[in-house]
Amino acid sequence: MSGDDYPDSVPWYWNSLDFAQLARDYPPPPDYFRTTFRMSRDELHAVQEKRFLATVKRGWEIPFFQRHWRQAGMDEGSVRSLADLPHLPPYGVAEIRESIQRNPPFGDFMGISPADGKRMPLVLQTSGGTTGLPRPMLYCPQDRETMAILGGRRFALHGVRPGDMVLVTYSLGLGNGGMAPREALWRYTGAVPVMTGSGANTPTRRQIEIVKAWGVNVILGFPSYLRHMALVARDELGIDPRSLGVRLLGTHLGMDNRQHIEALWNAPAFDMYGTHESGMMAAECRHQTGMHVQEDAFILEIADPDTGAMLPDGDKGTLYITTLYKYGAPQIRFNVNDISAYRTDACPCGGATRRLDRIYGRNDNMIKLRGVNVFPEAVGAAVAEDQRTNGEFFCIVERVGEAGIDQMEVKVEVNDAADRELVKGDLERRLKEVLGVKVAVTTVDRGELDPLTGTSQTSKIKRLLDRRQQ
Ligand SMILES: [Zn+2]
Repeated sequence: MSGDDYPDSVPWYWNSLDFAQLARDYPPPPDYFRTTFRMSRDELHAVQEKRFLATVKRGWEIPFFQRHWRQAGMDEGSVRSLADLPHLPPYGVAEIRESIQRNPPFGDFMGISPADGKRMPLVLQTSGGTTGLPRPMLYCPQDRETMAILGGRRFALHGVRPGDMVLVTYSLGLGNGGMAPREALWRYTGAVPVMTGSGANTPTRRQIEIVKAWGVNVILGFPSYLRHMALVARDELGIDPRSLGVRLLGTHLGMDNRQHIEALWNAPAFDMYGTHESGMMAAECRHQTGMHVQEDAFILEIADPDTGAMLPDGDKGTLYITTLYKYGAPQIRFNVNDISAYRTDACPCGGATRRLDRIYGRNDNMIKLRGVNVFPEAVGAAVAEDQRTNGEFFCIVERVGEAGIDQMEVKVEVNDAADRELVKGDLERRLKEVLGVKVAVTTVDRGELDPLTGTSQTSKIKRLLDRRQQ
């Protein structure tokens, strides 16, 4: 008889978790809006402290944290309350890479491995990944299900409602981009995910036909793809995207121009902040006044990128992530290297949470130009807005003249029919507005920047050359 050599038990997903307890601990919508979303700061502090201490205790079971914390002179009694959080040493992607080298292929920072599949069901997804192998992450039921709840809250904040049809245009496969919203929508919103995936999974024209034929009224995607979809509808299919009845767009805006995407679709676009390692950390409500942080699941600190000192609300700095819900691969002061700031005003929705301003860019891309922090991401967003360009650009920073003044030149590829002088003047004005510092624009032919950016050769595209360092 087959199965004689089969193990006595298999960890079934539905039996691996107390789902009712999880929903009390991390209320999904609609309960979320009546509970966690309006919790007083004192109540929240108590919840955070309890979960933080449990997370640190879990950290001491994981070799990566044992090593990292002992090197900083800490022991198991060092952390006694939430007030001790700033004493824990931060770490970044370099330390995670080192952990993977030390203990391939998954590193020793997760505290779980595929062999744990014998006692609990696991799933693996990865970062988006640009070159080489993407970074893998194993999720146990507690982590994955909480992530689905946090994602469900995000959609409810945006205004997604039961019965909505939601097109998910993030790629399907190893990356978490498409899978995470699918689980969140399906399990915790009552809306129906329609998993077309990216243009590589389902051709863009077909995606637009699906929107029209099936009554899709919400679209999720990267800003560039939302723009691309609208232009394909308008210019290739002769369908005005504003006529399609799309009620709202969910995206990660970063430095992209919200108004431009909203005008194309005649629908509001909502920002969020999440990663495959952390889950959905923050999302905008319908007022679009910055992203409400899911503070029962995360503590997000803003640090000075140079000194690591904590910054006051309103100041821009690098984000340190501490997860409060994770059993597998908890993050405890992970320097994710994204730049943001806390808002200091109140949101008209009455939510009690702190709110993050937009994500300004990656700290490792940031350059200082005459005292102003400039991100190539912001340049790219402004260039992409201008229909007379094809979105390709390259920034060169130099120190010129006897006085040694720092200058930035932005080379931009323009379409053949464009009036180059006009494009130059308009873009220089727009970039001054966006960046807060004057830069020079040079227009070039299509394809001319390819040797500098590597756009046709690699997915790791270069956008900046800083000659001051040479
Ligand atoms: Zn709000």
